[in-house]
Amino acid sequence: MKERYFAKPRVVISKCIEFSPCRWNGSVISSPVVKKFIGSFSFLLVCPESEIGLGIPRKPVRLIDKKGDIRMIQHETEADFTSEMADFSDNFLSSLKKIDGFILKDRSPSCGIKDVKYYPPGEKKQPISSKGSGLFGEKAVSKFGSLAIETEGRLNDAAIRDHFLTKLYALSYFREISAKPAMGKLVEYHSENKYLFMAYNQSILRYLGKITANPGKDSVESTFQKYAEKLPHVFSRQMRKGSVVNVLQHALGYFSDKLTSREKKYFLLTLDKFTQNRSALSECRSLLMSWIVRFEEEYLLRQTFFSPYPEELI
Ligand code: SF4
Repeated sequence: MKERYFAKPRVVISKCIEFSPCRWNGSVISSPVVKKFIGSFSFLLVCPESEIGLGIPRKPVRLIDKKGDIRMIQHETEADFTSEMADFSDNFLSSLKKIDGFILKDRSPSCGIKDVKYYPPGEKKQPISSKGSGLFGEKAVSKFGSLAIETEGRLNDAAIRDHFLTKLYALSYFREISAKPAMGKLVEYHSENKYLFMAYNQSILRYLGKITANPGKDSVESTFQKYAEKLPHVFSRQMRKGSVVNVLQHALGYFSDKLTSREKKYFLLTLDKFTQNRSALSECRSLLMSWIVRFEEEYLLRQTFFSPYPEELI
């Protein structure tokens, strides 16, 4: 049996997370989750505040809401860095090629993508809102919103992390096969992701299937292009429980005449617990995986649904 191959994701990360003591006070953010990704991902590090010359350590900056005009101000000196940050962000983001995702620092006025505090002008210390984005983070989402983008804090949640990794690995493998577009590769990619896409979004699975069938006989490059545009939409929301259960039952069907009644009963009990949020999807997946390997069910073995990303990241 062939081992499943994973492309190495290319991820832009806020440099202060695990990599460099570049925060305003010279500290580094510790993230056990990100630490686990080192070695599996190819990271591209960026610290927008250092890049615009603010220095380390530095006086902190804040986002000030001046009647809807959001300014990046260094509170103690009143210096305004809004245009420097905007220029750096535009230049940096437009220089990026072949990336699959971002991991950005939570709540930072530069890197944050949500829950960033906006302050009123003047001396007031209390924020008027804590629902905004940082200046760099906002531009990253606007340009690369279809990729896998998360903050290091949210990745501590198992369901958010599973979704992020699933999307990231699906996109990175597609990026890899897109480097040398060939219809056979696209058909294989679509077929291996069938159960995964089915669990996420059946109508997009069908739409992608039509693109893969290439009824208009587009060129290979334009077929890949169409597929690439639609692919991220599969992951626009987390997997639906009902669809996941369908996929699991469908897979069980492959072994219906090979398992003992006790084994089947145990699986259905585990599935029931999953449906009632009393057990994780990984338990059902692991059970099925043990039978896939035991009965050498090659078609299921190739389905990314059962191992959407490397096991060491689970
Ligand atoms: S949050 Fe962003 S700008 Fe702030 S220290 Fe980290 S990488 Fe630099």
